[in-house]
Amino acid sequence: MDLPFTEPFKIKMVENIYRSTKEQRESWIKDASFNLFNLKSEQVFIDLLTDSGTGAMSDKQWSAMMLGDESYAGASSYYKLKDAIKDITGFNFFLPTHQGRAAENVLFSVLVKEGDLVPGNSHFDTTKGHIEFRKAIAVDCTIDAAVDTTTWHPFKGNVDIEKLENVLKTNPSGNISCIIVTVTNNTAGGQPVSMANLREVGKLSRKYGVKFIIDSARFAENAYFIKLREDGYADKDIRDIAREMFSYADGMTMSSKKDAIVNMGGFIGFREEELFRQASTYNIIYEGFITYGGMSGRDMNALAQGLYEGTELLYLESRINQVSRLGTRMKEYGIPVLEPFGGHAVFIDAKKFLPHIPIEEFPAQTLALELYTEGGVRGAEIGALMADRDPITRQNRYPELETVRLALPRRVYTDNHMNYVAAVVRNVFERREQIKRGVKISWEAPIMRHFTVRLERY
Ligand SMILES: *Cc1c(COP(=O)(O)O)cnc(C)c1O
Repeated sequence: MDLPFTEPFKIKMVENIYRSTKEQRESWIKDASFNLFNLKSEQVFIDLLTDSGTGAMSDKQWSAMMLGDESYAGASSYYKLKDAIKDITGFNFFLPTHQGRAAENVLFSVLVKEGDLVPGNSHFDTTKGHIEFRKAIAVDCTIDAAVDTTTWHPFKGNVDIEKLENVLKTNPSGNISCIIVTVTNNTAGGQPVSMANLREVGKLSRKYGVKFIIDSARFAENAYFIKLREDGYADKDIRDIAREMFSYADGMTMSSKKDAIVNMGGFIGFREEELFRQASTYNIIYEGFITYGGMSGRDMNALAQGLYEGTELLYLESRINQVSRLGTRMKEYGIPVLEPFGGHAVFIDAKKFLPHIPIEEFPAQTLALELYTEGGVRGAEIGALMADRDPITRQNRYPELETVRLALPRRVYTDNHMNYVAAVVRNVFERREQIKRGVKISWEAPIMRHFTVRLERY
């Protein structure tokens, strides 16, 4: 028989997690204003809120931390990280930042101005936040197949090249900040972008003289999908694929908390010195001097090591297969899940799970709350709550995809944990008709409301 994929590591240190009763969870979630972000982590049994910064570092990363150089300027840790970034991405210049959104803040301070358009593929929430905060507009050019939750498409994260060219064509007056392509496309369900697509975007960016930036949080998972699904890449090394992906772009923003398997950190990569120079000023204002930018030397060391571990084939195979095993099990239970499964998470289609709850009552948030009270599983709403209001009309935005994301931390949970999660979802699915109403907002922030929103049950 074919031998199964297994984790290419064993466990050296463990951390206890805590079970609770349904009654406790009912009371805790009420105290948390029905916002899962307000829970204490001890009140959660299996935490699938995010894969961001929640991964387990390796013994090699921990030992690299002991060699951190904490010099203010020119630390060896900075040069170690610079070499790793050059090796893995091909970018000659880089700025460290404390996390991914800080990289966006610094880079957009140079590129984005009021009234600009920023086309891309379903911009991530912080990316959109930084664009809209500058009174610019994020234009979604994702392919239409992305919103169809059931048809199989190998690269549902792709940019619709025609839509993108239309945006570029109709705006010749220089009000396009840059093109941002997110790999993998988190908001569209962790779906990958093909190499062919990145190549086409690169061509358009040169044709119209607009910079092309890759939002790279999950670039290694994207490279794995290219290896698996795109003609001509089956025998290529993950790192060669990653370098080719970046070769079409002018720069990248990175949340190192994802594919670089560290708990905090980020950076910006640049092809050209000029953009790096301009961004350096903002890095110094917002993050720190250009050779540490919000990161300790030890953290830069762990990140340099993590970039290599995150791009190892055996690791990626075990991770992405764990996600698909969870998805497959849920599918066997009849639960409507987004397909194909993404790289970092399984997305439950809340509109199909709770068809009787109107969109105005936030079915995905309602479902996420049920998963928590049922079994202490914390997922995240990726739907109307997260989509915020339209910045101009202030009307609620209702995106096509109304989902609960179960994101898997890297190297943290076993398959037994995942079987527990699938059982919890199944129990809720079996009593779905008893869930009569959703939730309403009692307080919200003007932007990025889902983090702090207060809700009430009907
Ligand atoms: C996480 C993430 C960011 C923001 O990074 P933080 O480290 O959370 O600030 C930006 N883009 C994508 C695609 C992400 O997944």
